[in-house]
Amino acid sequence: MQFHLNGFTPGDPEIADPEERHNAAGAEGSLPAEVDVLIVGCGPAGLTLATQLADYPDIKTCIVEQKPGPMLRGQADGIACRTMEMFHAFGFGERVLKEACWINKTTFWKPDEKKPSKIVRSGWVQDVEDGLSEFPHVVLNQARVHDFYLDRMRKSAAKLAPYYSRRVVSVKPAAGGQSGSVVTLDRIGSGNNGTSEIVSARYVVGCDGARSAVRAAIGLELRGDSANHAWGVMDVLAVTDFPDIRCKCLIQSAHEGTMLVIPREGGYLLRLYVELTKLEIGERVSGRNIGQDEIIAKAQRILQPYRFDVKEVPWWSVYEIGQRLTDKFDNVPANADTAVMPSVFIAGDACHTHSPKAGQGMNVSMQDAFNLGWKLVSVLRGQSPVSLLHSYSAERRAIAKELIDFDREWAELLASAPEDGRKVDPAKTQTYFVQHGRYTAGTATRYRPSILTGASTYQHLASGFVIGRRFHSAPVLRLADAKPMHLGHAGGADGRFRIFAFAGAGDPAASGSAIHRLCDFLMEDPASPVRKYTRKGEDIDAVIDVRAVFQQAHDVLAVEKMPGLLLPPKGRYGLCDYEKMFCVDHKTGNDVFAMRGIEREAGCLIVVRPDQYVAHVLPLDGHRELAAYFDGFMLQQS
Ligand SMILES: Cc1cc2nc3c(=O)[nH]c(=O)nc-3n(C[C@H](O)[C@H](O)[C@H](O)COP(=O)(O)OP(=O)(O)OC[C@H]3O[C@@H](n4cnc5c(N)ncnc54)[C@H](O)[C@@H]3O)c2cc1C
Repeated sequence: MQFHLNGFTPGDPEIADPEERHNAAGAEGSLPAEVDVLIVGCGPAGLTLATQLADYPDIKTCIVEQKPGPMLRGQADGIACRTMEMFHAFGFGERVLKEACWINKTTFWKPDEKKPSKIVRSGWVQDVEDGLSEFPHVVLNQARVHDFYLDRMRKSAAKLAPYYSRRVVSVKPAAGGQSGSVVTLDRIGSGNNGTSEIVSARYVVGCDGARSAVRAAIGLELRGDSANHAWGVMDVLAVTDFPDIRCKCLIQSAHEGTMLVIPREGGYLLRLYVELTKLEIGERVSGRNIGQDEIIAKAQRILQPYRFDVKEVPWWSVYEIGQRLTDKFDNVPANADTAVMPSVFIAGDACHTHSPKAGQGMNVSMQDAFNLGWKLVSVLRGQSPVSLLHSYSAERRAIAKELIDFDREWAELLASAPEDGRKVDPAKTQTYFVQHGRYTAGTATRYRPSILTGASTYQHLASGFVIGRRFHSAPVLRLADAKPMHLGHAGGADGRFRIFAFAGAGDPAASGSAIHRLCDFLMEDPASPVRKYTRKGEDIDAVIDVRAVFQQAHDVLAVEKMPGLLLPPKGRYGLCDYEKMFCVDHKTGNDVFAMRGIEREAGCLIVVRPDQYVAHVLPLDGHRELAAYFDGFMLQQS
């Protein structure tokens, strides 16, 4: 798609009339007096969480934002492969793929040895290693990411929309170990100044950015770098003879600093990140009065000998950031008794901040919310005890710490004028970029063993589905209709656990096969997690969605002889769900068993969490271990 040719216009480029490209509508009227979940902030973290909760009209969710309407331009733009996987699960991955700019190649530029004031290309790499994800690394304005979430929320069962022009001024968690908080908000904007509203919320989630009021209310602070780095960030439409302008470029000049060039959606727009200066401790960049002309002039000097003629600047900012982290991501003090339950959480920039160099901020923030969302759903719907919520801070803080360490190392490497006088070493930069591609792609996250992440006892049965890492999708054929598709796309961001049963070498349709025995256990045995945790009257896959993958070709497998759990009657008419079984796509040669190191003779079970992480690998007949896993954090339904 090409757009923005005659100037930047915010919103949906598929709508011809620029005036109609964005939907500014928020929720009307006063805030509800009582809610289950109050989300503070409509950034990527808040909107991811709200979208997850919006599928449950029985959960009363409210999302508030101090700004008067949705974001139209600016801020982050990098969307990691892992985030694309999540967007696909939320149902708008294809829209992002169509509209975004795909980053296929990254080039590296260094000072020319003969004339150091000029830059020359030092190398290039493929941006994402082959096979890392079925999705590319793309870039798209953060405002459009918000639009997709808002659209999905509007269309969801709860028809959720944000309450704009509301600023949270205080959060008072109930005293004496009671749950819930009282939140005071100011209505801001024309005609409303001075009006306050009060909301009682069982859970409050502060997705309110780096200066989070919710974080302050629970006595946490961001710790880390004592000084910030200032960056000039600019979206531009420009005419240039710089040859790599439609690639992502890391440019390290001899004396003018570092710059990142990011090609953007629409084919003409560019994002420049220009490193400006390190600030003194406590100093704010606003005090330096850096303007857009200064950033453009610096970019032009870095790009020498190339011409860079800026025609339009749709958005720019001078953005100051350090790598910082809070001690906890909830309101339970680190040394408190485990009986003390969390009721206030923080997510995204409210608990960790990153430099923009590795494009982490927006991506990690959304993954925080994806981790918390299904846990809140599970607790609020009575499927899990409140103690499950302890796992949010434990899991996400450990990941944030790792990513911040990576970000710090990467930022130091990119610093163009190292303080110790070292020279720019582009080869080192390029090697580091390739070695750490999994961090930037968002696929390096690995949760440690816990009640949610099983031990590695049976990891050898599926070496490519690493316990604690995200479920790495692979191509398969759907058995009932021979549709080629990705196994990981079999389910959405619907709060359900998935069990993928990879059948062993024998005929899975034969009575007494391991697949039949597994399904019999799951259907009949009182210890079965499917029986124990699904409510009466719900579809059999409402909580745990069981799928099977076979090694044989689709035309030799007898669909009609497969176990009833894999052909479940569902809904008010008891219609059969034919989409539970898959097989190897022998035509293309893409063999999921080979690609993911599945033990062919024995097969195995892969348990996948609602946020798409591999929770456990077990033998096909590990019925008791499977039951014990779910018993660790779920509540029996009557
Ligand atoms: C000016 C700016 C420029 C940035 N530029 C880049 C960039 O170029 N590249 C990059 O990678 N990252 C950039 N970032 C960082 C990136 O946008 C964040 O990492 C990402 O948005 C984090 O998402 P979040 O949802 O945690 O927080 P945010 O996106 O910061 O969202 C927080 C939201 O909460 C609202 N809010 C705050 N306080 C209250 C309150 N008391 N009551 C109600 N609402 C409140 C805010 O208005 C905001 O909408 C930028 C951030 C800022 C602020």
